[in-house]
Parts: sequence; structure tokens; C-alpha cells
Amino acid sequence: QTYLERIARLNPQLNAFVTLDAAKSLAQAAAADARRATGEAAPLLGIPLAQKDIFCAQGWRTTCGSHMLENFVSPYDATVIERFDAAGAVNLGKTNMDEFAMGSSNETSYFGAVKNPWDTARVPGGSSGGSAAAVAARLAPAATGTDTGGSIRQPAALCGLTGLKPTYGVVSRWGMIAFASSLDQAGPMARSAEDCALLLNTMAGFDTRDSTSVERPAEDYTRLLADDAPAKPLAGLKIGLPREFFGEAERAGCDAAVMARVDEAIAAYRALGAETVEVSLPAMQLSVPAYYVIAPAEASSNLSRFDGVRYGHRAPEYTDLDDMYAKTRAQGFGAEVKRRILIGSYVLSHGYYDAYYRQAQRIRRLIADDFARAFKECDVIMGPTSPGTAFRIGEKAADPVQMYLSDIYTIAVNLAGLPGMSIPCGLADGLPAGLQLIGNYFGEARLLEVAHRYQ
Ligand code: GLN
Repeated sequence: QTYLERIARLNPQLNAFVTLDAAKSLAQAAAADARRATGEAAPLLGIPLAQKDIFCAQGWRTTCGSHMLENFVSPYDATVIERFDAAGAVNLGKTNMDEFAMGSSNETSYFGAVKNPWDTARVPGGSSGGSAAAVAARLAPAATGTDTGGSIRQPAALCGLTGLKPTYGVVSRWGMIAFASSLDQAGPMARSAEDCALLLNTMAGFDTRDSTSVERPAEDYTRLLADDAPAKPLAGLKIGLPREFFGEAERAGCDAAVMARVDEAIAAYRALGAETVEVSLPAMQLSVPAYYVIAPAEASSNLSRFDGVRYGHRAPEYTDLDDMYAKTRAQGFGAEVKRRILIGSYVLSHGYYDAYYRQAQRIRRLIADDFARAFKECDVIMGPTSPGTAFRIGEKAADPVQMYLSDIYTIAVNLAGLPGMSIPCGLADGLPAGLQLIGNYFGEARLLEVAHRYQ
């Protein structure tokens, strides 16, 4: 009730939620109370959470930020939603996002921009911008996000939160509307690493309905977070600092005040007992171009299902079937989504596939190899999450390449399938700066511990 009241008061300014259903949320809360009364101790019993509107939730409108799904009410639950229900969590509502998760500012949403609670003239980051703004403004204690190229970590950085993108395959993608299936991964956004660990405990797990879900024994992601740590809790930890982020010339690619906060955070890690070593990720510089071939290619295929036949928007007037498809898609998708479909169809087409798609896949392999080499020298890699703080609404909207470069530090992690986090590391000119932590495959528990010791 407290959160719903706060949402009612502040959401009109922030536009963080696109769908609210107080009756449904309160019914879930009452059900949690009833479960508690029987002595049940489900891990998130009665905990309210905001859900990114990319997750299908039964009986809830699920829009993915698009006009195409403006009136789509999901007949089923995503695995993530199912798991939260079983754990006793309460769905507070569905959060705004860039259309089909394509963006870094939340400005591509059909439902309008989300405002950053730190400065409402600025973006919250994207594509999980509604979730980030909701948690930052205390409209929810924690939220879900998804990260295909940075969409959990970058908005977490721009709103002063902790966000985790798990190893590809740890969280089921079933019922999560697909953008680029080989990159998409869901994760928690919260105020601390500890809260992220609690959410991940519920989100993670094998699912036969997602063919890329990884079958591993269940883990308690909070197990390394005990508070009885010694004075130098990170003694023995080796932090890799990539030359591609921290080289003298490369530093210029990042806002100076953000870099200063990142340097201070790394100094704080040395004080906690960690050592730093220089590592190199030479193929990293190719990550943004490779991503903008691979992600649109997969998106163009995934989005072909929105044809006006099965669900979602259908053009009200048309002459024949082809005309219906064309009008439906012309009306239903926004400009950024259309740009990606065109790029994706082009790079997959006969005669261009070898020149673009195959080359991008090769680069992807080189990037993964770079990380594998780096992790022989260190346990965790650190750097900035985003090259700047929250930018002004409209500032980058006219220049897609400028927007794409917001993810210059995050995209390689998705291409390699590694886990990555962003944690707040202070203010740069009055706005939150984020420190990125990259771990080795399935290293989430250790990554959360490293984040927790700093917090
Ligand atoms: N900003 C990137 C893009 O627009 C990443 C988005 C995401 O991670 N969903 O594709």
C-alpha cells in the first residue's frame, strides 16, 4: 500500500510504470499474508517488486514499450514471473522501457520518456529505464531488468543503483520478449549487491522451456556476503584493469569526473586488500560494430512474429494480406525498431551475410578469447560502466551512433556471455557514476561479494 501510494504520487512525473493494477497487487499481497499466516517462509514473501514490461505476466498488459503490443494482455507467465510468484513476491506493476529493449535512454518507448529522479530533465538510461527510475525514486525496493548490450548496467549506473547481468543461460528467457536471443539475459536491479543476490536466488535456475538455459546445481548467491569479514576481506583478489579503458589515451573516451570516481573506487579496493594488474582486451574496440550487426540480425528474425495475425496490433484498414502485414508493421513499430529490422535484414541477406554477419560472429569469438586470456591473470575486471553520467532528454536522440556508444563499456560482456555488474561509486558533477565489475562465467557469487565489500 505504501509503495502504491508513492507510485500514485510520483509516477505521473517520472513515467516509470506503464501499467499499474492496484487491485491485482494488493490481492497478491493478501495472498502472501495468508501464506505467512500458515507459517510458510518463502524467500520473498510479501516483497513488492517492479517488473520490466518485457516479461509476460498472466492477466497483465505486456507491451515491451511498443504500440505493437499496446493492448496485449499476456495469457501466461514468463518463467521469471512464475518464480517470483512462487517465492511470494508481489508484482507492483510493469515498468517503462525502450521499445523492444532497443535503446540506451528510454526515449524510444511508445509510452514516452522516463525521467531520471536525480534530475528530471535527464534520461534514466535504458533500456531498463523505468525499472531504474522506479528503484531510484523508491517506488519499489527492487526491480527486474534485461541486458542485451548494457540495459541493466547502464541505467543502474545513471540512476545510482546496483544491477547485475548474469552469465548467459543462468536466468530463463522463456516468456521474456526476445530482442537478440543469443545476448538477452535478465537480472536484478536494486539498492545493494545483497538485494541483487536475494533476487537472483529466485530468478536463476534451469528451465527446460529455454533451450539455452544452463543446467547447474542451485546456488545461494548470498553465501559470500556474511558480515563477519576480516579487515582486508579481499586479500588475494586480483583485479584486472584493461588497457583499453585505463590507458593514457583511452581514458579520454570517458568523462573525466566519472573516471576520477572509478579511480577512487579502485583505490578503495586496494585498501580492502585487492591487487590490480593490467590486462588487455584488444578486440574490445570492435564490440559496438559487431553488436550492431548481430543484435539487429537476431531482432529482425525475432520481430517477424509481429505480423498482425496472431496477437498485437493489426492495421484497421488494408486491401490484402501483404498490405495488412505492411501497414500493421509500419504502424506498430517505432523508428528505432524499424532501423534495426532494416539493418538486420540487410546483413543477413544473400551476398551480405559473409561480409557482415559472419565477420561479426568471428569478432565475437575474438572478444570471448580476449576475456578468457584476461581471466588467467585476474579474478574480476573493473572499469567504468558508462562513458558519462545521465544525459539530457533529447541530447542524443537525433544521433543513433552517439546513442549506441553509450554502451561502449558494456556490450563486449554480452557478446562473450559473461556476468557483469554496475555499482554506484559516487557522484560526478552531482550525478551518479557507475563502476563496472566483470566476472568469469558463473562467477556471480564472487562478483556479488566483491561488490558487497565495497558497499
Ligand atoms: N543500448 C543497446 C541497444 O540499444 C542495448 C540494449 C539492451 O541491452 N537491451 O541495443
